[in-house]
Amino acid sequence: MIQDIYPSRLDNTFHNYIIEEDDILLHFDKDGKIYTGDTEGEMVFLTGKDVKKEDTVYLFSLDDKRFFLYIGENKPEVKGFDYYTTREVRDKFSGKEVFAVFTGYHLWKWYSDNKYCGKCGRRLLFDDKERAMSCPECGNIIYPRINPAVIVGVIKGDSLLLTRYRRGYAHNALVAGFTEIGETLEETVAREVMEETGIKVKNIRYYKSQPWGMAQDILVGFYCEAEDDSVVSMDENELKYAEFVKREDIELQPNNLSLTNEMMRMFKEKRISV
Ligand SMILES: [Zn+2]
Repeated sequence: MIQDIYPSRLDNTFHNYIIEEDDILLHFDKDGKIYTGDTEGEMVFLTGKDVKKEDTVYLFSLDDKRFFLYIGENKPEVKGFDYYTTREVRDKFSGKEVFAVFTGYHLWKWYSDNKYCGKCGRRLLFDDKERAMSCPECGNIIYPRINPAVIVGVIKGDSLLLTRYRRGYAHNALVAGFTEIGETLEETVAREVMEETGIKVKNIRYYKSQPWGMAQDILVGFYCEAEDDSVVSMDENELKYAEFVKREDIELQPNNLSLTNEMMRMFKEKRISV
């Protein structure tokens, strides 16, 4: 999965580091596209020498490499570099840097959505003690936002419930959805499966989680079982396909970055059963 970069490690401890020439700089445009070069499928990033120090904020470290975010107004220009969406990054590049870009995107999105105080309207300041934006006028503190969402592997005998979204990602997926205020994750699972496919589930159990910066999510994976008499009744606004598919017929996604794909693969390889 995207976060499985062992023995490398992403260290998200907050620091007030000032950028130096060799540090890596992530630059996203106003639409959230990352500015990067491409050397045989590996991303090449801007560095500290390409911009002014005051136009950057420290994000995290990947092993001994420190990553900063560009927050200046001018567009840095480097020959051979181009802008890529996070989805294009997912399809085109590989390696631990993809996880760094997704995580950087999550933080860029949060910083770009939180420039002014929601209570009093003053320009927010970068907090110097923790990852937060603070208001010099009213003291409001805004922390990074992470959206909880579930991914659900619904099992019926020797089959798994596969879906395809009506819009966006084209490959096979599982039932997924955001947690609403006032419900537990298990309740989200039961509600989303019912809403999207009309199926009642039981024996809901946790599998694994995944940070998914592309959508500012923390994804929480669960397996569960469909009630014996359940019949698929698809929500056509959300999905264009929803069927129980036998293990051997499950077609996986083109790469192994997503928790969804891992959950489909684990079932296909008979490492998960009811
Ligand atoms: Zn304020």
